[in-house]
Amino acid sequence: MKNIIYLCILSLTFISYGQENTSLDYYFSQQDISTLDKDIPTPESVIGHSVGKWHISHDKLVEYMRKLASTSERITIEERGKTFEDRPLILLTITSKKNHQNINQIQKNHIDQTNGIITPKTDSPLVVYQGFSIHGNEPSGSNSALLLAYYLAASNDDFVNKLLNNTIILLDPCFNPDGLQRFAYWANTNKNINLNPDSNDREYSEVWPGGRTNHYWFDMNRDWLPVQLPESKVRINTFHKWLPNILTDHHEMGTNSTFFFQPGVPSRTHPLTSKLNQDITRKISKYHVKALDKIGSLYYSEENFDDFYYGKGSTFPDINGGVGILFEQASSRGHVQKSDNGILTFPFTIKNQLTAGLSTLDAALNMRNEILNYQYNFYKKSREEGGKQKKSAIIFGDEKDAAKTYHLAEILKRHKIKFHHIKNNFSKDKINYKKNYSYVVPKNQKNFKLINAMFEKKNNVSR
Ligand SMILES: [Zn+2]
Repeated sequence: MKNIIYLCILSLTFISYGQENTSLDYYFSQQDISTLDKDIPTPESVIGHSVGKWHISHDKLVEYMRKLASTSERITIEERGKTFEDRPLILLTITSKKNHQNINQIQKNHIDQTNGIITPKTDSPLVVYQGFSIHGNEPSGSNSALLLAYYLAASNDDFVNKLLNNTIILLDPCFNPDGLQRFAYWANTNKNINLNPDSNDREYSEVWPGGRTNHYWFDMNRDWLPVQLPESKVRINTFHKWLPNILTDHHEMGTNSTFFFQPGVPSRTHPLTSKLNQDITRKISKYHVKALDKIGSLYYSEENFDDFYYGKGSTFPDINGGVGILFEQASSRGHVQKSDNGILTFPFTIKNQLTAGLSTLDAALNMRNEILNYQYNFYKKSREEGGKQKKSAIIFGDEKDAAKTYHLAEILKRHKIKFHHIKNNFSKDKINYKKNYSYVVPKNQKNFKLINAMFEKKNNVSR
């Protein structure tokens, strides 16, 4: 009898996991829902299930974003290229209708500020680049992008209206389409009718090679600086086209953790990243604290994760006049898993990512002038420091390997770094530099800080 009661309780528990709430009122407050424009399609009306019930496949994600762009005057969509598996690399530009009508001029003005041609005005928009799930098997990011895009398109809340008037949001819903698709297939195929939170279940042991990487198993979160992969090429192109003030990079970590946001461990910050950059990151983090407290989620900061290698998404912006922010959500991996902190459901992980996405935008709106001025001064200093260098240029080349030289030059080109061929052959420190095999990179240019980070071997630069 005891056993029967135990079994009944156990099966009831599993049934309740199966009935996890994934409706809009799980993700948004009643007040938020009351402001939503009914003419904007919900994710469920297009993808055929509520967000978090199943793992979104990339094709459905794209279908929804295209539908949103076709129904909302706040959103435009562009297809910037394709992955190795021919999946489109889409980008949403989200802002007010009025800003959209003037988007080319806004983009030009923003870049002119970084060139010191004009100063930021009190009404200059801030540019925020929000990117998700560069590791495809860290899916809460891309799944939350459905809700974030929907909310920004449909809400008539005062905050959203003010936000869209004052910011340009570049929403990159999936940094890694091939990896996300591979992982979604695994998690959905192995989902149980009655969800099973036992971490030994097949659902939580994804088959090798997993969805972390792209088609050729490259970890794209090491490629922001080398820019070798198709996904990275379009991403970096978008980055340099807009030079975003804030860039967010939404990841997942171990199941037994909670939620992390930067700053990372202070001693593990790259020495060329300024204290001011970290102070602004810390100030932005107060908005995450407030928002996560409101929904009762656990979190931490500054105790883990580095901000050192500029080839990572959350660090790359820090040497390019922006503020990069890493988010790490404890992973449910599949649909629900037991953890040290209790039962961790997939919808809960999505809700945290959505909350951090919105708190970033809240910070962007409230700290707009401070962050615009930070970027203006960053490039002003970069140009000034570059112009003062005793060694005024860097030369590179290999007289026996033109291809190697060419490919390094290609990387510089992708980062808008100016350089030119040497005019005549010459030797320095017993190295021969041959015409057509060597390039000169003058330090007196806007991207001096980035050049310094790429070529400088020492890291004893004071902060
Ligand atoms: Zn990751």
